[in-house]
Amino acid sequence: MYSLVETFDSIQGEGLYNGSLCFFLRLGGCDIGCGWCDEKKSWDESKHPKSSINEIIDLVIKSPSDIVVVTGGEPLMHNLDELTIELKKHKRVHLETSGAYNLTGDWDWITLSPKKRKLPLPEIYKKTNELKCIIYNDSDFEFAINESKKVSKNCLLYLQPEWSKKDYMVEKIINFIKLNPRYKLSIQKHKYLGLQ
Ligand code: SF4
Repeated sequence: MYSLVETFDSIQGEGLYNGSLCFFLRLGGCDIGCGWCDEKKSWDESKHPKSSINEIIDLVIKSPSDIVVVTGGEPLMHNLDELTIELKKHKRVHLETSGAYNLTGDWDWITLSPKKRKLPLPEIYKKTNELKCIIYNDSDFEFAINESKKVSKNCLLYLQPEWSKKDYMVEKIINFIKLNPRYKLSIQKHKYLGLQ
């Protein structure tokens, strides 16, 4: 049984798959405590109803999307092995995680968004497809550089301004990318469009 905060179809606003229709599966539970977190409602797992894998699959198969994004909260606080076995029978399966817990599940795409408060476990770095570092203040550029050294050569590198600082930070990110062109800018396209 999984604590399920919400499910919805929307346009992915971040990373390589931005613009793609996805079915978002938001699991409850996160103990990392980022001050700027925009999903604080997901932190307390006990506040959300539990759903079985069968109940989740019933929702998934009704979605027109080819991609399920498992997000949170911190989804890796749950063991995701059995859930992803069933999800993969129907859709591509993507993970959005801080990497702070053991990597479970079988994934087509892993987005790692490391947090200074609780660093990723070493095992996830080489399996990461895209590294998304949130830029909230100037020291986050150095953090992003250090985290980028841990992923594979083929891993995509994204810098994403924290939403409340976006007007100030976008220009700094663009200037950084001019000097470090391996990085790409990720904006939260869904938020600009007023989507979920
Ligand atoms: Fe929020 Fe994600 Fe940080 Fe958890 S890891 S506090 S869900 S931003």
